[in-house]
Amino acid sequence: MNIKHLLLVTAALCASLTLSAQSENREVKAAAGDTYVEKQGSYTPSFKVDGSNKKIRNIILMIGDGMGVGAVNSAMYANGGELTMTNLKTVGFVRTQSADNFTTDSAASGTAYATGHKTNNGYLGRNPAKENIPNIPEILAPLGYACGVLSTDDLNGATPAAFFAHQDSRNAKEGIWADLAGSSLTFASAGTQGTFESMPITTQEAIRGRFTVVYDPNDRAVRRSERLLYLPKTVTLDRGAYLPQTTEMAINYLADRSKKGFFLMVEGARIDKEEHSNHFPETVRETLDFDKAIEAAIRFAERDGHTLVIISADHETGATILSKAEPENGYALGIFASKGHTPMMVPLFAYGPRSREFSGIQENSDVANKIIAILSGRK
Ligand SMILES: [Zn+2]
Repeated sequence: MNIKHLLLVTAALCASLTLSAQSENREVKAAAGDTYVEKQGSYTPSFKVDGSNKKIRNIILMIGDGMGVGAVNSAMYANGGELTMTNLKTVGFVRTQSADNFTTDSAASGTAYATGHKTNNGYLGRNPAKENIPNIPEILAPLGYACGVLSTDDLNGATPAAFFAHQDSRNAKEGIWADLAGSSLTFASAGTQGTFESMPITTQEAIRGRFTVVYDPNDRAVRRSERLLYLPKTVTLDRGAYLPQTTEMAINYLADRSKKGFFLMVEGARIDKEEHSNHFPETVRETLDFDKAIEAAIRFAERDGHTLVIISADHETGATILSKAEPENGYALGIFASKGHTPMMVPLFAYGPRSREFSGIQENSDVANKIIAILSGRK
């Protein structure tokens, strides 16, 4: 079947689906795009401790927002057929349905990953009865773990917010920032300086009372700080290597501040945003950038030997399909059948001791419950 036929078939399929589509998927229609990328290679660890029963001190959870099988395939083949995440040996799938919707949003799925409980779309850190539910940092910080979040979204974006906020609505921007002051985080970095400075002065002061706030990762205040909020000027396309570099920074910062160990959540937030816009080259670019951050985490896990890295997504976006690729030329052609989220299972990759516990098919909430059980020594 050639591309034109595939487009027609996809378009016809989408037209027939429109009536039953979720509200986010109303504008369903097929869009295509292609790209040539500059190949960045990949990293393969030794697998010496992978799947072993060695003690786990640190867990790094990496969430590619909207990163379904389509985005992973597109980035992998465009990058010559390799990614660090696809070099790993432990693979599973994650079901993402929320408590009230077959197709989740990032707030409900972020809450499932952050708390181990399914909730309604739009809710952050609260169950369907609107009661607060403890997130991983709130559970692990009292046990002596240092906890952090890092994202290419604004800090009030649904995924990072799920790890420190408790709000009925993901749109409660000021409430989410206010929750940061009372959070259990030791490290946070996300967008942006401007967003922070647009918050009420009382919120800014409460956050400054709890965190050392810097706008430059080389600021001398970083070294002597106890808790750090690093806010870059931008997290959009012109952010350079912010995500991989800050992943390294976050790992070092957290490792230095706890003998017990740390939990870090890293989000590649903009894969989802580009899929919503049906921008194929940028979807590939964002997935490759996320893979560089994964490489930083896997390299640390390899050196450390007591670190488990889990890579997955909160949901699929765009019904992204790789249609054609020339791996040797860094070329890929993709199709989107949706402008919204889809309910399809998302891939999971894991590396480190006990990685096998994350293989097979699981719920997004299961991933959090396993993390909590491992680091709290419950099993
Ligand atoms: Zn989305």
